[in-house]
Amino acid sequence: MIPTAVVVGLFGLVAGSFLNVVIHRLPRGESVAFPGSHCPACGAPIRPYDNVPVLSWLFLRGRCRVCRAPISVRYPVVELTNAVLWVAVFLRAPGWADFASGAFLCSACLALLAIDAEFRILPDRITLTGIVVGLALSFFSRVRSPVSSFAGAAIGAGGLWLVAFLYEKWKKVEGMGLGDVKMLGMIGALLGASGVIIAVLLASVSGSLVGLALVLARRGSLQTALPFGVFLALGAVAAFFWAPLLIELYRGGFR
Ligand SMILES: [Zn+2]
Repeated sequence: MIPTAVVVGLFGLVAGSFLNVVIHRLPRGESVAFPGSHCPACGAPIRPYDNVPVLSWLFLRGRCRVCRAPISVRYPVVELTNAVLWVAVFLRAPGWADFASGAFLCSACLALLAIDAEFRILPDRITLTGIVVGLALSFFSRVRSPVSSFAGAAIGAGGLWLVAFLYEKWKKVEGMGLGDVKMLGMIGALLGASGVIIAVLLASVSGSLVGLALVLARRGSLQTALPFGVFLALGAVAAFFWAPLLIELYRGGFR
């Protein structure tokens, strides 16, 4: 168990390194496959020995070897976070399909969180891929049925689309983008029906609290649009790990 967890963690670091490429290139409309990694400042290709997750960043003290331009601390943070999440998923997933679902959910949410925070977009390449992956893996899952997965995608995407539609009719402004709708479809396909509902609740509560805190700190108004995808990403990962516990607490509270 422990040696396997270490291997999973190493693969998590490598996948995190790829996520950094996705986070940087997808919103800029660049290919994630070609060309190979290069410094965003000077364009120098990054050598394999300078591309080791976390360690290279530490060794080069967060700077490009060629031009010394600073390299964002986001790179090692994304790599480490992804590795920790993959190990945590591995330790709780009952089978390969549930590990794959959980690992995909965590990595996709990590990338979507970083992209939404900076660019306020949620790329289809991630969300629509996630819907397909979630539905396909549900046939091999030990924790969610294909019915729950299809219902989750429908509830997630359909429910949020309805809320966004009504909100627009009521306020005459666009509150949520279609990106959020597709992201919720992805979360529903990967978590199932009950999971996506919990993810939305957690995202709404945390988003409202942060919004309220900003208003109280006079850093924003009630109209300040927060990137909802950031909160959805956090809510979905929290729901993956703690949905059973939250359902238990909810039942206990109403006994
Ligand atoms: Zn450089």
